[in-house]
Amino acid sequence: RDLPGDPDLAPGIRQVHGAAYSRVQPTPVAAPRLLAHSVDMARRLGFTETDVASPEFARVFGGNALLPGMEPFSANYGGHQFGTWAGQLGDGRAITLGEMINAAGERWELQLKGAGLTPYSRNADGRAVLRSSVREFLCSEAMHHLGVPTTRALSLVGTGESVERDMFYDGHPEMEPGAVVCRVAPSFIRFGNFELPASRNDAELLRQLADFCIRRDFPHLRGRGQPLYADWFAEVCERTAVMVAHWIRVGFVHGVMNTDNMSILGLTIDYGPYGWIDNFDPGWTPNTTDRHQRRYRYGQQPQVAYWNLGRLAGSLSLLFDDVTPLQDGLRRFVSRYMEADRANTAGKLGLDECRDDDTALMQSLQALMTDGEIDMTLFFRGLAAVDASAPDFERLDEAFYDPERREAVEPALREWFARYHARLSRQDLPEDVRRARMDAANPRYVLRNYLAQEAIDRATQGDMDGVTELLEVMRRPYEDQPGREAYARRRPDWARERAGCSMLSCSS
Ligand code: AMP
Ligand code: MG
Ligand code: MG
Repeated sequence: RDLPGDPDLAPGIRQVHGAAYSRVQPTPVAAPRLLAHSVDMARRLGFTETDVASPEFARVFGGNALLPGMEPFSANYGGHQFGTWAGQLGDGRAITLGEMINAAGERWELQLKGAGLTPYSRNADGRAVLRSSVREFLCSEAMHHLGVPTTRALSLVGTGESVERDMFYDGHPEMEPGAVVCRVAPSFIRFGNFELPASRNDAELLRQLADFCIRRDFPHLRGRGQPLYADWFAEVCERTAVMVAHWIRVGFVHGVMNTDNMSILGLTIDYGPYGWIDNFDPGWTPNTTDRHQRRYRYGQQPQVAYWNLGRLAGSLSLLFDDVTPLQDGLRRFVSRYMEADRANTAGKLGLDECRDDDTALMQSLQALMTDGEIDMTLFFRGLAAVDASAPDFERLDEAFYDPERREAVEPALREWFARYHARLSRQDLPEDVRRARMDAANPRYVLRNYLAQEAIDRATQGDMDGVTELLEVMRRPYEDQPGREAYARRRPDWARERAGCSMLSCSS
């Protein structure tokens, strides 16, 4: 490795200074068994289905064996959690096995999550439960196929061990099955990797990390000379803007946008108490630990991303004599986000371009969707099929959760459709082109919370078919898949408040 590592090789939880990572070994598990894998990701990495089916594969990706060349480590980083500096955090249960260069020349880092104690485990156990591992596994792949920048998932391995978790709703600890996910990305470096050395005034390590990250993950910036760091920060800002705009487009709520959960590559990372918008509500968050402050609610995510970039800028300022370029970078976030948001509006409404009053058109629709308790995914997907000149709400029937609120909002919705119709008549876009654009921006299938929960319930009973089937549906989220209508319905009433489905918190 080109970065300073922790010289202390002994296990033991500790503060690690002057080092970007610590060498660790995964802790073997009782009975590693492959529960699911991503066929796409396996193929991309060059694993055949025979490789995947071998006991060796489950052993490696459960943490019981290493392949030649693997030198596992856990990364050292800090972070702002819910707005407060939290000091050193680090990979408390994540262990990178190594990097692979595939046949296409792509470099991928392979990382186990739930593989046992590391120097960064603080007061926790280094393990992950099946429930949260299924959620990370499914959502990583679903997001990828939705076109959202994200870390990927290769495998889900059952450990044959139980993990104890405090289920907060009845106050009693419960034993749950354990699992290990292998997640895959070009890099797992987070904003927090830079924040930690900066917080310790370790400009040397900070500079080494920045140089390493640019050399490895931003090679196109090399050779530009100065101001290299400025260009790099601006690109991080832009990538982050693009990522969050995608979240808004598909109705994804990350749930814990702490700076240690922000990828320097602008990838969605760390799938914990995330959720998907059913009825459109910008104030909604799936994270029960955040239910009062709602810092990480759906509609707040762009602002939070900006705030997080501000923390990163503050850390990087140690490398700058003059911080103007960092301020410029932050402005790039704003302009790039606005641009991406306008593209969302044009795509979702089927417009040739997003003009100034189109933004207002979208905002009025969103307000109506909130007031009318309308399902975001179903409404937008259905919109392409509605004749705006004589809107027939029957086509959108499925999208309404509450008949009374529907009735209350219908007159305003009719007025909105009149505006929309007028707007469509002012453009010259063939009907089929318009529909194709809308279908490419408005997924039919998203990983609704209750769908993931149903798959988890089955997995807990030992039946993995629910996970496999859901993964398969989510591979083609923009296509109508005959026979799979059940995956494109609104949230059933039973799933509204159910514990374990609508109640999620960090770190399970
Ligand atoms: P998160 O809220 O998932 O981003 O986690 C915050 C910090 O807690 C990170 O440093 C994690 O590595 C650590 N952490 C979370 N869960 C565990 C666990 N079960 N064992 C050890 N460390 C954990
Ligand atoms: Mg995290
Ligand atoms: Mg986490």
